[in-house]
Amino acid sequence: MDSVEKIPRNFITDIIDDDLKAGRHDHVATRFPPEPNGYLHIGHAKSICLNFGLARDYHGTCNLRFDDTNPVKEDMEYINSIKRDVQWLGFQWSGEVRHSSDYFDQLYQFALELIDKGLAYVDELTPEAIREYRGTLKEPGKNSPYRDRSIKENRALFEKMKNGGFEEGKACLRAKIDMASPFICMRDPVIYRVRYATHALTGDKWCIYPMYDFTHCISDAIEHITHSICTLEFQDNRRLYDWVLEHISIDCHPHQYEMSRLNLEYSITSKRKLNLLVNEGYVDGWDDPRLTTISGLRRRGYTPASIREFCRRIGVTKQENTVEMTALESCIREDLNANAPRAMAVLHPLKLVIDNYGAAGVTATSFTVPNHPDKPELGTREISFSKELFIDEADFREEANKQYKRLKLGGLVRLRHGYIVKATSCEKDENGKVTCVHVEAIPNSIGCDVEGCKPKGVIHFVDANHYFDGKVMLYQRLFTVPNPGAAEDFLACVDKNSVEVIEHAALEASLAQAKVGDSFQFEREGYFCVDSKYSTEGHPVFNLTVALRETKKAQA
Ligand code: ATP
Ligand code: MG
Repeated sequence: MDSVEKIPRNFITDIIDDDLKAGRHDHVATRFPPEPNGYLHIGHAKSICLNFGLARDYHGTCNLRFDDTNPVKEDMEYINSIKRDVQWLGFQWSGEVRHSSDYFDQLYQFALELIDKGLAYVDELTPEAIREYRGTLKEPGKNSPYRDRSIKENRALFEKMKNGGFEEGKACLRAKIDMASPFICMRDPVIYRVRYATHALTGDKWCIYPMYDFTHCISDAIEHITHSICTLEFQDNRRLYDWVLEHISIDCHPHQYEMSRLNLEYSITSKRKLNLLVNEGYVDGWDDPRLTTISGLRRRGYTPASIREFCRRIGVTKQENTVEMTALESCIREDLNANAPRAMAVLHPLKLVIDNYGAAGVTATSFTVPNHPDKPELGTREISFSKELFIDEADFREEANKQYKRLKLGGLVRLRHGYIVKATSCEKDENGKVTCVHVEAIPNSIGCDVEGCKPKGVIHFVDANHYFDGKVMLYQRLFTVPNPGAAEDFLACVDKNSVEVIEHAALEASLAQAKVGDSFQFEREGYFCVDSKYSTEGHPVFNLTVALRETKKAQA
């Protein structure tokens, strides 16, 4: 499996190969640095597959490091979910889990070093004023009136910040770089701010917290990362990454490389927006099967291998683009087509009665059928059969044209694995809705052609005297537009009808034993998995993972 899954060559593997060849490095050390302020999503999977995949392919290391510098938004729940998701995807980090907060003492010392070198100062402008003084892309910024304080004064004030002497927003530490730089991130970026918040790991030890740009590069250096991969939005910040490492006493200077983010149609890959969907109740938690969070995909029935395959196919480049949802769906469909056992499930049951059941040649009480058409090793099972069956409502019409390949009055179809039957009459309720179809079975027609009887098609069924009455959840896309992230109000793009709950599907009896983690192809319907949230012992609930094939609707 490993060799098959090797990362296809890309610009980063080219850089690594060059570095190894030129002797700039003799090993590869990467890291995956999530901020624990939400659950992981499909975009993170791209970064995970790349960083852990490089470590695998080059026999190097990959650290899992929580970038936990903002105590206000971060939480142990997120930390635990992220660890679980990385492992579920099939990866293991090197050594212990790391946290930026493990380095708070060292980061503080490096901040002092910058102050001592005259390269950092405590600013008492308000956050709004700092923003105003920063200038724009067209106009240079202005120096803060606090910029030229003495080293001694800065030391004392930074100490005061650390000791709780300032309210939030009343003071911050800024790197002294260049207020006229064409790169706004270099216009004296804030590197420490005051926050009176309890940190998930360091508790109330600190009331000042280092900013991402200051923390990230130093954390990479402390961990001796060789190739620090991030997304393109951080291209400009590379200047700051390098500036910090050039101006502190540290023996390692990792390099940052940027790749394009994964943007996926019909999906949100911003944790802030995902948080809104979850907290405002638009979805059933972070693991709602309509979300492309890792936990949502897992609950939807995606396998780790299918997600890794998707990440392999989309590749790693610097070109921004949006990937079609069908590309992700193909990966799970191919996986399940190859591996999922088949089962019969009637989602919208309609009673079918075999009037001549019991006559000579129409006496079968069960059929032995293969669990998978191409995989005899998956074994066989017994499907029960009797006079009364369920077929799907959509598989019968009183009248239909030649294109209709199912059952109509006077027409013939084959029951999957079973007899050829001919519809003779139907019963209806007071609204004219068909409630029961009567058929005659052709004697001795199981699994063989019968002279003069040409069935129009094959339909599936479940024995109405022996079945599992189960719940099935069908899903459509969560959003009505392909790019909800770009909409002014993305919450208005949520399709409120994107879940269809079928309370009483007629499922093959053996499905009552299905467990969380099991997936099936419900023949002629799609791929389904056992829902991890609502299933109970002996009462699995089934989630639609993906349709059997790309439908027009899915492509819309
Ligand atoms: P958000 O803005 O939603 O919080 P983020 O990029 O800040 O997302 P992080 O937790 O910081 O999320 O991300 C951890 C790692 O995953 C980073 O290295 C980041 O570059 C990468 N990553 C996040 N989203 C994507 C994406 N859509 N495609 C590729 N990599 C991503
Ligand atoms: Mg981030």
